[in-house]
Amino acid sequence: MAINFGEKYQHLIHRRGCNCVQPDARTFPDEPLVDGSRRGFLASVAGGSLVLMTDAYTSRSVSADSTDPAILPTQLIAKVNGAIDSDTARLVEIFKDLHQHPELAFTETRTAGVVTKNLRELGFEVTERIAKTGVVGVLKNGPGPTAWLRADMDCNAVRETTGLPWAATQPQRLADGSEVDVMHACGHDAHVTWMLGVAKAMINLKDEWSGTLVVYAQPAEEIGLGARAMAEDGLWERGFPKPDYAFSYHAVPGPIGFVANSPGVRMAGTDQLDVTFKGVGGHGSAPELTIDPVVMAAQAVLNYQTIISRNIDPQASAVVSVGSIVAGRDNNVIPETATLKLNLRWFDEAVRDKMIRRIDEISRGVAIGAGVEEKEMPTRVMKGYAGPLVNDAALVDRVNPSLKALLGADKVIADFPAVMGSEDFQEAFRPLGKIPYSFALIGVAPLEMFRKARAAGRSFPYANHNPDFFVDLDAIPVGARVGTTMVLSILAKGA
Ligand SMILES: [Zn+2]
Ligand SMILES: [Zn+2]
Repeated sequence: MAINFGEKYQHLIHRRGCNCVQPDARTFPDEPLVDGSRRGFLASVAGGSLVLMTDAYTSRSVSADSTDPAILPTQLIAKVNGAIDSDTARLVEIFKDLHQHPELAFTETRTAGVVTKNLRELGFEVTERIAKTGVVGVLKNGPGPTAWLRADMDCNAVRETTGLPWAATQPQRLADGSEVDVMHACGHDAHVTWMLGVAKAMINLKDEWSGTLVVYAQPAEEIGLGARAMAEDGLWERGFPKPDYAFSYHAVPGPIGFVANSPGVRMAGTDQLDVTFKGVGGHGSAPELTIDPVVMAAQAVLNYQTIISRNIDPQASAVVSVGSIVAGRDNNVIPETATLKLNLRWFDEAVRDKMIRRIDEISRGVAIGAGVEEKEMPTRVMKGYAGPLVNDAALVDRVNPSLKALLGADKVIADFPAVMGSEDFQEAFRPLGKIPYSFALIGVAPLEMFRKARAAGRSFPYANHNPDFFVDLDAIPVGARVGTTMVLSILAKGA
């Protein structure tokens, strides 16, 4: 197979397998990477600048006070590194395999099979097919707290353009026989791989901790339904040990070796909803005999944009986006209906309620203006939902000193700004009330690439969901180390 590397992947050719002399792509720059915009990956670190000083791989500096009981002992951190180092080759193979076999929401059967097989081999008690493809693995190891660690499994309907040797090339055949290009453009393949690395490391380090570890693979994060579907499929009635703490993470195109684990609100709440306008269809040449739903939909799209600008407190953050307009088929036929597919983002339930109320009022107003009868007013269907992701401050405080001991004090960002992106991780725990959780962002981009992007004025070298998104193989052991350290922060003896 001819391998067509894009220019930005040239460094990967040299870093894998050949012996030619290359400048070390992991040499850290000496300039501060703070842009103060509150938007960039390493933006606006409060109370001082953030300077990248050391290589995360060669100098695992312990600059935090190692006598602090919150920090895992240096020897244990070394054991974590050893356990993951000896497992890295296997994990990279698992990752490449998952990457080449992406599966869309609720169809992650092959991925779930990989998870099940690996966890069973390790001795986890495994339950499959929760919400179709969800997998839960339980490892009891004496008295102590219970920590849950989650990885999401689904991919995106994106055609991969990385040209990497392990790129996904096959479309996925859907139940209706149609085919769609698919790709892990959000790094969920890495999330699963990291979790399997954590599972094995925790088996190897069994003497170092006491309690219960539950690792689980969740379907359908991308459509915001998987976590809730697991809860609705009896996740909490199946006898699994309930979590005292929960953990998860997400791949981001920040530099490898960096983790953002910050307290408080991290991600926005989100809704996906469809609004359908019902008109009167007819011939395109005789619009006077119709009520055109396409025109109503077009007006509504524009009017919805006034919700953020005119109805929401300018100091609150919220988004209304229309991602799809579905109406008609032929050039000369005015259709019966037009459906708008909307996505909302918000941090405050009151803002959410107001957005939904205004969507209803605007939709209805447009329909009345078009002469639609009362019984044919627009309908709204609520689909995916997730509340805001809010990290537990005390748990973050407990985990971060150990992450600093693992990665270096300057590589753990505790005041990363909240983003408008969303997660459904927390929705699995909603029926249990308040479970403290910590959700970390893990850098997966080669530092040199990140640095070049910053020099060119861009926040990131590439973005999640883009066809050129990729997880550098060097990020595979890092994510596994981070995940292991997070759960050990709770489960380690004496922690
Ligand atoms: Zn995504
Ligand atoms: Zn994602």
